[in-house]
Amino acid sequence: MSFKDLDLIQPIQEALAEEGYTIPTPIQSQAIPLILQQKDLIGCAQTGTGKTAAFAVPILQLLYPRRTMGKGYRQIKSLILTPTRELAVQIADSFTVYGQHTGLKNTVVFGGVSQKSQEDKLRFGVDILIATPGRLLDLMNQKIITLDHVQIFVLDEADRMLDMGFVHDIKKVIAKLPSKRQSLFFSATMPSEIIQLANSMLTNPVKIVVTPDEPTVEAIQQRMYFVSKSDKKNLLLDVLKDKAIDSALVFTRTKHGADHVARILNKEKIRTAAIHGNKTQNARQNALNSFKNKEIRVLVATDIAARGIDIDELSYVINYEIPNIPETYIHRIGRTGRAGSNGIALSFCDQEEKAYLKDIQKLISMKIPVITNHGYDLVELENPALVLVKKPAQRTVAAARGSSTARQPKQRWFSKGRAGK
Ligand code: AMP
Repeated sequence: MSFKDLDLIQPIQEALAEEGYTIPTPIQSQAIPLILQQKDLIGCAQTGTGKTAAFAVPILQLLYPRRTMGKGYRQIKSLILTPTRELAVQIADSFTVYGQHTGLKNTVVFGGVSQKSQEDKLRFGVDILIATPGRLLDLMNQKIITLDHVQIFVLDEADRMLDMGFVHDIKKVIAKLPSKRQSLFFSATMPSEIIQLANSMLTNPVKIVVTPDEPTVEAIQQRMYFVSKSDKKNLLLDVLKDKAIDSALVFTRTKHGADHVARILNKEKIRTAAIHGNKTQNARQNALNSFKNKEIRVLVATDIAARGIDIDELSYVINYEIPNIPETYIHRIGRTGRAGSNGIALSFCDQEEKAYLKDIQKLISMKIPVITNHGYDLVELENPALVLVKKPAQRTVAAARGSSTARQPKQRWFSKGRAGK
């Protein structure tokens, strides 16, 4: 199926073609026709599946005939509620790109920054508002925003909203929406409280489930390094000697770990920033922007901070620590290999983490190829206690790639990069 088969209007077709989109992702081919038929929808899908376009494109198409021409005041006709500033900005950017030829206007409001510039943008009205719950309620209480004219409401990343304690805020927002409206509900997971929330806000919804795990994992080249905890930093520095890795997202399990790795890399003059829950919204957004603009080479992130981050052309994910929840591994490596393109995921596994690795391999139904002779290999003796092989002089990852035990000895297995690069 191509986007041409989805009965999209010309201004949207053009924008998608300019973005290089030709084939809709599974959630897009399923959701777009249903949303265009003005059905309520419950979508079980995570970021990385093309979910944003799956709702943004049909919303733009539905609002197109109802758009306000010229300088007239625009009522908010669609509201997208999302948990974090990063996601809000990404969604707004997507609306801007897909809607660039429609004349529809969007803006974004989120907390943690001054309200003034957001207020200025709202003064002339917008067709589509993307918001995080707290700031939206503030602006509603100040009568700067009214939701009386909302026709299409999207609740994005509902499970994460609940995780972050937004449930009461969400209910307050829903109470202010017109009862006659179309509602779209997205969540990566569907525990019972999410289903309850969905049932409270949807009318006869159609359910769509997309499981990105299989295709995503297949599109990603995965490699495992066995290494002691104390040698992970040296291995990371070695791996990053490879200039082919022009940008990498490095995962740690803890906030402290993220700061620690960022400090080590910066000390070695590898431009790095860390993002995690203890950083301010501004610091997180600045780090993300610098990473996207290639001003820094490495972004170190915790799982919560990185979830939902959308970085085009991210080729490398490095699991500095193996996640203890197997699904998290899939979420992490899914930051690369987005929408079907190739990515590379390297994982550093120490002795204690081998149990986590076992669970991950079970979940993805494959054994992750192991890179050996990288200079910091863990070696198991007859006595199952593990010893650490001292780093031999000049043993680098590049050397490991050329070694007879590496999987593809002479070939730089990750030099092929992403399709089209
Ligand atoms: P999302 O799940 O909405 O965050 O989208 C993940 C990434 O896939 C984003 O970088 C989109 O720009 C990209 N994308 C979405 N749909 C398509 C498509 N049909 N073809 C190519 N790339 C896409």
